[in-house]
Amino acid sequence: MLEKLINSFFVVVLWAYLGLLAGCVAPIQHYQKFVIVRNQKPQATIIVNRQASKDEMFAAEELQNYIRKASGVSVPIRRDNEEFSGNVIAVGRNKININSNLRFDRLEREGFRIKADQNGLSLVGKDDAGTQFAVYTFLEKYLGIRWFWPGELGEVVPRMKTIQVGPIDDTEEPDFKWRDRGPGGALWGSSTGPTEMHARELLLGVSREHQKQVELWEKRNKWGGMKIYGGHVLGEIFTPEKYAKTHPEYYALVNGKRRVPGKDYNYKHGGQICTSNPEVIKVTVEWVRDFFDKHPDYDAVHITMNDGLGFCECENCRALDSGEAIKEKGINVEVNFRTF
Ligand SMILES: [Zn+2]
Repeated sequence: MLEKLINSFFVVVLWAYLGLLAGCVAPIQHYQKFVIVRNQKPQATIIVNRQASKDEMFAAEELQNYIRKASGVSVPIRRDNEEFSGNVIAVGRNKININSNLRFDRLEREGFRIKADQNGLSLVGKDDAGTQFAVYTFLEKYLGIRWFWPGELGEVVPRMKTIQVGPIDDTEEPDFKWRDRGPGGALWGSSTGPTEMHARELLLGVSREHQKQVELWEKRNKWGGMKIYGGHVLGEIFTPEKYAKTHPEYYALVNGKRRVPGKDYNYKHGGQICTSNPEVIKVTVEWVRDFFDKHPDYDAVHITMNDGLGFCECENCRALDSGEAIKEKGINVEVNFRTF
């Protein structure tokens, strides 16, 4: 009797288990994944617009490159007016994505969509940056690729003989409008400053090749956002070549003497200015206006005092000292600069 009971108990449990299993598995069984590579044979083609921008093309090449690193095989890239075969990976604003219902134009700046089903894979952004982020997010989130530090040594690419994904329906927009370690400078992030200052950054000893690697690493990790130029830009605005002889009064008065930058000036350290001088403010405003005229793609310019000390001790600058914050020989740098 007991044996019978135990047996029937196991039968019931077994049926319940199988039923549960069937319930879990059933929807997946009906779904076919989107296949990019099967057993190291390419199954898909990357499609870009016939007039793809440089950045869109780069996004497609990065995708191709990492699929090859992961699987050992290369999937072709074709323009949307060319013949192609196999599954479609539509990257950026090509006719496949434009004619879809992805509505990527409604996204915020740098937003993107990733959609995969058995019919295709779409990686498209509101703009070129968004399309690049769609590719990098796809590689990171769905293929497990990571970029821990600049250069190939910092990469982790899981090896896969078969790459298949889906279903995916991902929409992302940046939570932070500006994603960077600092507003500029070779050691601080983007070194592609649009002005002559870039050449001077190289004097700090960071090679151009390393700077390129850092830029790429930042892009792959979706840094960027608002374009802000500046930081310690006093050397750029008040170049001694332009003002040392003609306007020494633009520079800081220290111990009763104007500290005009000399030959050893590296444009980042020292070389402080007299921020209370109305002419100095006028020169700065003109420089900022000129910057935006020449670089309308920038959102902001950031101006701060140079590194090091030697702040202006003239009567007007001293008058701005509220005694509230950082003091250097009686000069409240914070209030002084905020007023400027
Ligand atoms: Zn002053």
